[in-house]
Amino acid sequence: MTREEALRADDAAHVWHPFTQMQAWPEDAPLVIERAEGNHLIDVEGRRYFDGVSSLWVTVHGHRRREIDEAVRAQLDRVAHTTLLGLASVPSIELAKRLVEIAPRGLTKVFYSDSGSTAVEVALKMAYQYWRQRGRPEKARFAALGEAYHGDTVGSVSLGGMDLFHATFRGLLFPVERIPTPYSYRWDKGDDALQGALDEAERLFAAKGHELAALVVEPLVQGAAGMIVHPPGFLRGLAELCRRHDVLLVCDEVATGFGRTGTMFAVEQEGVTPDLLCLAKGLTGGYLPLAVTMATQRIYDAFLGDVADKRTFFHGHTYTGNPLACAAALANLALFETERTLERAERIAAVLAEGLAPVCRLAHVGEVRQKGLMIGVELVRERATKAEYDYGDRMGHRVCLAMRSRGVILRPLGNVVVLMPPLSTTVEEARQLCASLRDAIIEVTGA
Ligand code: PMP
Repeated sequence: MTREEALRADDAAHVWHPFTQMQAWPEDAPLVIERAEGNHLIDVEGRRYFDGVSSLWVTVHGHRRREIDEAVRAQLDRVAHTTLLGLASVPSIELAKRLVEIAPRGLTKVFYSDSGSTAVEVALKMAYQYWRQRGRPEKARFAALGEAYHGDTVGSVSLGGMDLFHATFRGLLFPVERIPTPYSYRWDKGDDALQGALDEAERLFAAKGHELAALVVEPLVQGAAGMIVHPPGFLRGLAELCRRHDVLLVCDEVATGFGRTGTMFAVEQEGVTPDLLCLAKGLTGGYLPLAVTMATQRIYDAFLGDVADKRTFFHGHTYTGNPLACAAALANLALFETERTLERAERIAAVLAEGLAPVCRLAHVGEVRQKGLMIGVELVRERATKAEYDYGDRMGHRVCLAMRSRGVILRPLGNVVVLMPPLSTTVEEARQLCASLRDAIIEVTGA
């Protein structure tokens, strides 16, 4: 037995993988990754693969960036972890200050946690408690978009609108009001999905705004839904409705944050400052689990009072504000400056758009959706009718396997092949990625 085979056997015996049908898992001979260099992952056999989804949307400047490695090592020489419950710590203070500098103006407070899901849970509980402490306890419900995805904990799953992931758990969840997702294939072709969605939102807010605590949205791009790109003006329209109806706006930038859509934060493109902003994934450059929920002064102030008033936000995870993760995040943010990462990513997004033009024309590609470095290539049985492949056909998965044999790691969302390469992707890597994808789709779909 080779080392790889032995590791695969132990993996199959003991590791239960997330979002994975374990019965099918061993058949695909999973890669066992051991190390990485730049934008490539290297398996135990020494084979190299381009990290085409940034290790599930987190890697920003590539793997093993000297500056981030050194920052983590330096922090390790001081202390790996101390708590924020009852103590402050140097890196968590410095990072909070830096985040307030770069976030949309008005977000002045940083609450730490460890994942995108917890960042959303924190926002939900803050919004709920906020209204109670403002003397409006009836504002206790939430609104979210159709096909929303905000994480896997029970609160964030309640917000979720993706039946495949969320329907099983409905009995466990609190009810949420829905605003329709304005699908890009409709607005692109002149159908006024934008106005339709905003009109429905308006009706909902008019009827129920008085009992809504907050609207939670993924700004500009709904990632897990299949990289659904919203039409310009949608977020701004929703923000305006929230303002008029006194409903808090929570923006979940767990996926879109840190340059993925072309700007540091997606909300910047619509000139929107939410009341609460959730960040995770790219925050540490893809190094360590860390998340924040940023809040405005108005939210924060509603939690102040005498200890006996019990207006405290009673929430906090053990590893909240972990110093190693905060040190990685600070180094990650510094690299955005020194490397001019956003400018560079804009160039790469243009190269990808150009490289994907031939992919758009393939017989089994229904649509290619792109915002910056977030890309979804939708595979369809028939282009003209957009007839879908069956879920069990695993077309997205098969294309990803075909990409693997071309030295690229991808992870699909059903029949949508996701490309989310690191912001450090080179022009050559971007071109190669698109060329490989075209070949892989032709190999799998036959045209
Ligand atoms: N919100 C959004 C928009 C996400 O894309 C994700 C993860 N893909 C989450 C929340 C949950 O983040 P985590 O997996 O870190 O809990």
